[in-house]
Amino acid sequence: MDETDHLDTEDHYKKQILDLNMMLEIGKTLNAASLSLKNVLDIVILTTYGHFHSADSTILLSLEEDDKTFFTGEVEEKRISLSSSTPLESFVRENERVIHIDEIEAISKLKNAYEFFKENEFELIVPLRFKERINGILCLKRKDEEFGSEYTEDEKRYINIIAGFTSVAIENARLYEMATLDRKTKLYNHGFFQNRLTQEIERAERYKTDLTLMILDLDHFKKVNDTYGHIVGDEVLIKVAQTIKGQVRTFDIPARFGGEEFTVILPETDLESASLVAQRLRKAIKGLTFTTQKGEFSIAVSIGMASFIHETSMTEDIFIEHADRALYYAKEHGRDQIVLYENVKEAIEI
Ligand code: GH3
Ligand code: MG
Ligand code: MG
Repeated sequence: MDETDHLDTEDHYKKQILDLNMMLEIGKTLNAASLSLKNVLDIVILTTYGHFHSADSTILLSLEEDDKTFFTGEVEEKRISLSSSTPLESFVRENERVIHIDEIEAISKLKNAYEFFKENEFELIVPLRFKERINGILCLKRKDEEFGSEYTEDEKRYINIIAGFTSVAIENARLYEMATLDRKTKLYNHGFFQNRLTQEIERAERYKTDLTLMILDLDHFKKVNDTYGHIVGDEVLIKVAQTIKGQVRTFDIPARFGGEEFTVILPETDLESASLVAQRLRKAIKGLTFTTQKGEFSIAVSIGMASFIHETSMTEDIFIEHADRALYYAKEHGRDQIVLYENVKEAIEI
């Protein structure tokens, strides 16, 4: 062993220590409490770019719909799905490691899966297993050319370790979502809203920042149910929820308050900016059209808003009551409008 070998070995060990430290960091990050499914996917995908120099990668999550299981995900903002066939399931179960696409080329029963991976240019296929279930597949495209053409054996070993962390994190995120999301609308549920409101009030108090609360209530929704039936009513709620989610910013917190009432917490937002969001929301909801066998219809919404007042002992309940009173005022004065508690508090003080 000459001097160069010695240095090579030393460099090799140094790199291994760096890699292992990185694994530990990723493991810690992925095990942090209350990561959303999207957070988990983002962390893993960023790691594959940053550390393994994948040209692109994605995670296909297993999804059950109408008694069928799919692996589904996004590539370049396009949704892709692979039906989860028994041969594929059993192959990934038996080969719990990084699989190179060439390994499945010749397996006739995996022809569909092979073509799917090939078409999407995936080179490495990594099953994400949680207990007895494959809850996803991590798919990596080839390496960026400037970093060599093939993934090394070491890299594959690390990718496998990350796959282990990822499957646990996916399961945790799913459980967390089940506990915090409203089943029908997929917005946050009432319990989550209450917790976040408490936290956001604490934060606003500590940092002396603005905080606005919005309560939305669909106008004459009972009539929708009575005229078009409950199923159409449910579709309206789902569409309205999607619209709310689409119109608010990522750090705003939209929730289903109950029935046909929704809330949005807007951290670090004063009443003026929040009013713009509310205007946009009101218009977007009004612009939705619903087509049924009994004809087309649209729906309007009333919105009550309040801002958190500093230097008072304002509790969650008082904050909600302010927004609710503004909403009540909107209902009393013709519906289909936005009312700010600050503007009407004198008029409604009893
Ligand atoms: P207003 O303009 O005063 O708000 O009138 P409204 O008819 O919307 O008010 P009301 O509170 O009287 O009625 C709310 C209706 O929402 C009654 C209830 O049947 C319906 N609703 C609540 N939850 C659901 C749901 O999950 N699905 C469906 N389809 N309807 C629901
Ligand atoms: Mg209501
Ligand atoms: Mg209503």
